[in-house]
Parts: sequence; C-alpha cells; structure tokens
Amino acid sequence: MNRRELLKTIGLSSIALPLLSATSEFTAKAIQSTALNFKFGELELFLFSDGANVLKEPFPLIAPNKTEKDYLNARKECYLDQPMAFSLNILLIKKDEKYILFDTGNGLGKNENVGKLLEQMQASNIPANLITDIILTHAHGDHIGGILLPDGNFAFKNANYYIGQKEFDFWMKENNESTKNILNKIQTKLTFIKQSDILFDCIKVEETIGHTPGHLAFEITQNGKILKHIADVVHSPILIRYPEYGIKYDRDFETAVTTRKKVLEEAYQKRQLLVAMHLPWPGIGYIGKRDNKYDWIPLSFASNLKQIEL
Ligand SMILES: [Zn+2]
Repeated sequence: MNRRELLKTIGLSSIALPLLSATSEFTAKAIQSTALNFKFGELELFLFSDGANVLKEPFPLIAPNKTEKDYLNARKECYLDQPMAFSLNILLIKKDEKYILFDTGNGLGKNENVGKLLEQMQASNIPANLITDIILTHAHGDHIGGILLPDGNFAFKNANYYIGQKEFDFWMKENNESTKNILNKIQTKLTFIKQSDILFDCIKVEETIGHTPGHLAFEITQNGKILKHIADVVHSPILIRYPEYGIKYDRDFETAVTTRKKVLEEAYQKRQLLVAMHLPWPGIGYIGKRDNKYDWIPLSFASNLKQIEL
C-alpha cells in the first residue's frame, strides 16, 4: 500500500500522516485487545485480557514499608516505567465439553480500562453461555466483579462456581456488601474446594494464603508437565525480585511474603511455567535468577502463531 492508498483507507488528509507513527493510543489499544490460544496436552487454553489498571505512581501501594528510594531502585532493576499497568490476565481451559474459567475480571461498567473479558471471549468465538465452570482464586472485586452484569443478572448463566471455604467464610463476615451480594447469589451453584483437591482430573488446588485468607493457586497437569496458575501471589515483577516488599492489598502482609517466597523458590527450582493474573500481559513465564535475586522471564513466542504449543 502506498502513501496515497494508505491515506484513502484511513480517511485522513496528507497533513495528518506524521501522526500515524506509533502513538501511545494505538499501543494501548493493542495491549488491551489481546487473546492467546495455547495447546497444552489434551487441553486447549486461552488467555484473555480483561484490561489493565494503570497507576501513575504505584509507590507506596507496592513496597509500603520501604523507602521511595528502595522502590525506585527495584523498579529500575525490573526495567519498569511509570505509569505502570497492572494487567488482568484471565485463563480459560477447554477440556472436552467443559469450559473452565479462572476468575471473571472486574465486570462491566467499572472503568474504561477494564471489564474487557466478555468482549475478548466473544471475539474468540466463546460466548459467555458456553462457560460451564468458574474457579475463583479469591474474592477481590477485580476477580469476582464479572460474575454479575450491571443489571444484576449472571454474566455466565450456565456456570457452576468453586471457591475455598476459608475465603468464602471470611468475606461473608466482612463489612463489604457488594462482595457479600455476589457470593450470596452464587451460593446455590457453589462447590467448596481445599488443598490438594483435584478438579476435572487435571487441576490440583494449592492453598497460597496471605493476599487473602483463602487465596488459592492451581497446578494444571498434562503428561507430567505442569502449568501453575498463581493468581495474586505476585502483582508485579518488582515483587518477584523483592518478594518481601509486598503490596498493601495483602490482607496478612507477613504471611503473603512467606507464601510468595515459597511459591517463587519452588517455581525457580522446578522451572515451572507460571500464569499470574496481574503481571504484564499475557502474564505467562518462568522464574529465573539474576544477581542472586529472582527475575520474571516472560514466555516468548512468535506473534503470528495461531496456536502456541506448550
Ligand atoms: Zn487481583
């Protein structure tokens, strides 16, 4: 396509052409409108972006007990800039006739940067009514907010739900009406799960408490290979490099640090492939080490592949 054809296609005058060089608007759109399709043994996996919460200044939300200088050094070591995007990466597993979703994102109508899950699924020909099962890692709003539509009806009307009993019991005693309302509504469709339970013959439950009292991670196994979904054990590459820095959202800060260190060490030792909800899109990768500290190693793949073989 030459310049004249290009201009005609996009309906701009020639004066506007210099503006076509990668603008931040174009980049942001590309990040938020992405879905990936993986093959993992017998399973078909998808990662959908629910969007990202963009924070101008993540300190002291991250590293609340550290100095700003410590935080800035850590940020530099991780090659991160500000504003910082906290993605919401949603995993879907297709196993035979089952469509198993891990969490539901923020839901529609929260803010313009999030709540993209339904639109992303639709674009991948997976309408919400196909979802048979929803596994909840924990009950924060950015994970259960998509269960209900703004009108109060179920977004995934054929889904059954799974959550840790400790998580459920904790939130039912808290003074948080919107969380209680959602948990009340799913109660008749709910199964409680606990440490070492095996779901759908391939998903093992692991308690990873601290972020919330009943936070769960999941090991998905196929032919001896493991993909581990660690949900909110880490929120940023900074917390991989400095697990002890923590994030204010951690309900039990010290327990969250202990859990984070344990999960990261195991992932490093066993070279586990991890999926994390809030790491930069698509949030799938390994834990390496650099200068004796952990490092986030994003999985690399060719962008033109239709399906990625794990
Ligand atoms: Zn979260």
